[in-house]
Amino acid sequence: MGSVVFSIDAELGWGFHDYSNPPTDRIESARPGWKTLLEIFETYNVPATWAVVGHLLLEDCNGIHADHPAVDGWFARERGAWRDRRDLRFGPDLVEAIAEADAGHEIGCHSFSHVLFDDPRTTRDIARAELETAIEVARTFDIEYESFVFPRNAVGHRELLAETGFSCYRGAADPPESRLRRPLEKLLATIDPQRVELVEPTVDKHGLVDVPPSLFCFRFEGMPRAVVETLAEDPIVRQAKHAIDRASRTDGVFHAWLHPNNLQAERDARRMESIIAYAAEKQATSDLRIETMADVAERAQ
Ligand SMILES: [Zn+2]
Ligand SMILES: [Zn+2]
Repeated sequence: MGSVVFSIDAELGWGFHDYSNPPTDRIESARPGWKTLLEIFETYNVPATWAVVGHLLLEDCNGIHADHPAVDGWFARERGAWRDRRDLRFGPDLVEAIAEADAGHEIGCHSFSHVLFDDPRTTRDIARAELETAIEVARTFDIEYESFVFPRNAVGHRELLAETGFSCYRGAADPPESRLRRPLEKLLATIDPQRVELVEPTVDKHGLVDVPPSLFCFRFEGMPRAVVETLAEDPIVRQAKHAIDRASRTDGVFHAWLHPNNLQAERDARRMESIIAYAAEKQATSDLRIETMADVAERAQ
């Protein structure tokens, strides 16, 4: 019997603070999207792994972070352009809302300030500080992390995850259509319901469980989405339902992920509601399980 896992990269402004031109639409959708997503999970009593940027758990900061070995200028945006945007830098209220929800969510870690772990400038010291600072802040909320989601899925410094007590992470994405070269082939792949693969958790050389992703729920937007929206059903919903059906019949894991800031319009919330509702329905009528990343890690170890 297989399972479904939802993981969420929850970051408010931190997902984009290092961009020279942060995308306003994504950033302004982050808070309302967070609340909407939480409500949908609550409606269907479905748990997810919310990988939260550690800085969001702070009530306040000086914008300097003198103890953090980050590269020069790393915290410049929160000191400068976002000085008065506390709503993008802090979110203890939002994290508490996850912890208090009845669905039984897992709170995981998405680093402290969204440092990219595969960047050559990210030294061991920086990576360690990102993990240890996030862990320290989480303890004030009685949160003990099990799961880590790498910012922008950039895998690196895995040995430090093991050293600091994590048990699992979401591995690098390898969407099947990335192996295709021709644009038409790619477009067809995005709407082919069979194309989304179920995954298997594996234990890496550090003893950590890799829970790789199956589907990024907002992987094609803009023009391709406009084309496929002429179809009868949202193709991502169709693919997700197909994968959930397969997971209910086999031992594989369907691991879907997204950011709260992907919920920019009504249709985005509708997409997630359709997928989550379908998973809940299958769980009620078959042997399918809905698990957090930590649940998967526990049985894989
Ligand atoms: Zn700060
Ligand atoms: Zn992120």
